[in-house]
Amino acid sequence: MRITHIAAEFAPIAKAGGLGEVVTGLCRQLSLQHEDVEIILPKYSFIPHHLLTNLSKEKFEFPCLEASRFHTNTMWSAKVENCQLHLLETGHPSGYFQRPHIYGYPDDLAKFIYFSKAALEYLKLRGEKIDILHLHEWHTALCAPLVKEEMAQDLRVRSVIFTIHNLEYQGKCIPKDLDSIGISGKKYLLPERLQDNVHADTLNLLKGALVYADAITTVSPTYAQEILTPHFGCHLQQTLLQNKKKLSGILNGIDQKLWDPSSDASIQERFSGQDSLIQIEHAKTANKAALASQFKLDAAKRPWIGAVTRLVPQKGPELLEEALHFTVQSGGVFLLLGSSPIDSIQEHFEALKNRYENHPQVLIQLDYNEPLAHQIYAALDFTLIPSHFEPCGLTQLISMRYGTIPIVRSTGGLKDTVIDYDDYKVPNASRNGFTFSNTKELEATLQRAFALQKKDPDSFHSLIKRAMQRDSGWKKPAAAYRQLYLTCTPKATQPLFSV
Ligand code: ADP
Repeated sequence: MRITHIAAEFAPIAKAGGLGEVVTGLCRQLSLQHEDVEIILPKYSFIPHHLLTNLSKEKFEFPCLEASRFHTNTMWSAKVENCQLHLLETGHPSGYFQRPHIYGYPDDLAKFIYFSKAALEYLKLRGEKIDILHLHEWHTALCAPLVKEEMAQDLRVRSVIFTIHNLEYQGKCIPKDLDSIGISGKKYLLPERLQDNVHADTLNLLKGALVYADAITTVSPTYAQEILTPHFGCHLQQTLLQNKKKLSGILNGIDQKLWDPSSDASIQERFSGQDSLIQIEHAKTANKAALASQFKLDAAKRPWIGAVTRLVPQKGPELLEEALHFTVQSGGVFLLLGSSPIDSIQEHFEALKNRYENHPQVLIQLDYNEPLAHQIYAALDFTLIPSHFEPCGLTQLISMRYGTIPIVRSTGGLKDTVIDYDDYKVPNASRNGFTFSNTKELEATLQRAFALQKKDPDSFHSLIKRAMQRDSGWKKPAAAYRQLYLTCTPKATQPLFSV
């Protein structure tokens, strides 16, 4: 099958969070299964060229309209992680992709609207048949209505798949923003098309993909159910219910080569799930000692618990803070690596960091630091993930691979992957962490986890072994996507009701 992904992120060259890892993991696994996979990505200026193999300009340049002017675009081709990439460079005067980060700019909407249109102009020019066009998040959601309504005659696409990685981010704009790329925005301002379910004068790009795609996936079975309810549906539950037949949940995997404690170049002492418990314990102690000496922490204290996370309301920053205080009082060490796009949250954690400056039981690093993330996963006894909602979550999967026991709020993908140590309804062999539902249970859950480590080291060690043996690779999820690609048939091009 010819499978074309269009996405804003692709790890390791352009990663802001889970999205980039998932696109890469899925594409690489599909390539290994001999599918003909390609990814269209913006050519961000920060992409290190040494990570790109065979970087070359494709032969043609092509125009794309925005604000009554045609802008010239060039497509570059390169291989990364054994995947075929097409990197869109644009001569657009706003320098959309000439910035230090992927997101966080006032024109993010215009930028991704332009990217979506330009990516399709490229495919149109190339004229090749595509079996599956796989779109990710609101950034490329607009491609679904464009393919089905505007460019149906120009493109040879069998089926369009849209994956929701996080329903909270929807991409809302006004009709004029579509006029700008030569499409009538007003035509889409209808409840059965892109009109936002709350703000009637607004277009919702993610909603457009839900309406127009032939299949919708999200990144865990539980989240696929949750988003049908008002509590998790972010005002799109009605649209999702109308399109429920197209919706399924496929659990994410992690890149088990990238996240491999037996070959991880960032960590002090390597270890693997095949090692004896004594060896694992020894390696974790060495990894604690390395961080302790770098950041002046007390390596002898137990437990070591922490989080590697975006600091946004979804992730329960107030619960992370509560756990930090509780851990210090309990005699443990708390490590937090995170940063926030929200000024008030960032400032709050800056103040917390100042308060705990030079404290031997607390490390707060408020930035994005990939090698440090690896070192933290390798050193911790527990990771805390107290999310209010979590489409899938990768950090619990990464943690388990590094013998770090997850303590999670039981929601979305966290519910699908972490089974409580004390859940007697489930066979012992499947229990791999600690879970709580109500935020009031946070401290009691921490207490249960800390007590097991202290009072029953044998059981704690076998929990570590079980967690490390979990297969979180991409083989199973990629097989599920492949099955969907094979069976997904094009739906009627017109959504439910036509004008
Ligand atoms: P998200 O909602 O942010 O996508 P996920 O759990 O799906 O959450 O994925 C988060 C990914 O980003 C993980 O690989 C995690 O290690 C990484 N990550 C998050 N914050 C940081 C940080 N401050 N520094 C380094 N890596 C981070």
